[in-house]
Amino acid sequence: MKVLDKDSAVFLDFDGTLVDIVGTPQAVVLPQGLLHTLTALHELLGGAIACISGRSYQDLTGWLGNTPLALVGSHGAELLGAAPPNSQLQDLATWCSRELQAWPSTLVETKSCGLALHWRQAPQAESKVRQLADQLLQALPEHRLCEGKKVLELVPRQSNKGIALQQLMQRPEFRGKRPIFVGDDYTDIPAMQAAQNLGGVALAVGDRVQDYAQGGFNGPAQVIDWLRRSAHALREEAEARSLP
Ligand SMILES: [Mg+2]
Repeated sequence: MKVLDKDSAVFLDFDGTLVDIVGTPQAVVLPQGLLHTLTALHELLGGAIACISGRSYQDLTGWLGNTPLALVGSHGAELLGAAPPNSQLQDLATWCSRELQAWPSTLVETKSCGLALHWRQAPQAESKVRQLADQLLQALPEHRLCEGKKVLELVPRQSNKGIALQQLMQRPEFRGKRPIFVGDDYTDIPAMQAAQNLGGVALAVGDRVQDYAQGGFNGPAQVIDWLRRSAHALREEAEARSLP
């Protein structure tokens, strides 16, 4: 994969793109040196780097809050800040947890703007989870259903990762640059399309969304290697420019 140049604006998904997907969302491990590489790229790209995740803004901040990256949570619904708490979502999450009591390995994740039902560790619960998701959809008409890897999620209808990318591209540090989006899952497709519509590139991690991309990586380790090589090349280029 060709390394980034200084006119790139980089948009990265988190799970499955920067970190390997593991049993539960809280069990992921940040690869060594990742925060350092992201921070270096932020400087070298003049601030044009963001992470757009399906995690809540608050959750994402726990992982990447020590970097200066622009952070977007909840599939675009939380642009650079957390949404206020929503008691209806809390109540529905409690109800779901009760309904799923027979499958203790399922996980009901309450998010600031939605709800996620995970069955990665309880494959036999899939049909019950699908049934609950349909019931949730009726209770939350302003939401739509998104499917990920062994997870069904209710997300706000009016936002997606593509809209978030377009909004970030209007900010001074991103404006006029060439957007490059990297993601691995279906909820990344709107952002992959938005990057291409703005004259940029979409890159896929794994094979799930490769039909929407112009290139890709086989896993997070390859993405990180590419980011690291890009930072190195950008640093050398900047140093060459500053020579008398
Ligand atoms: Mg992902």
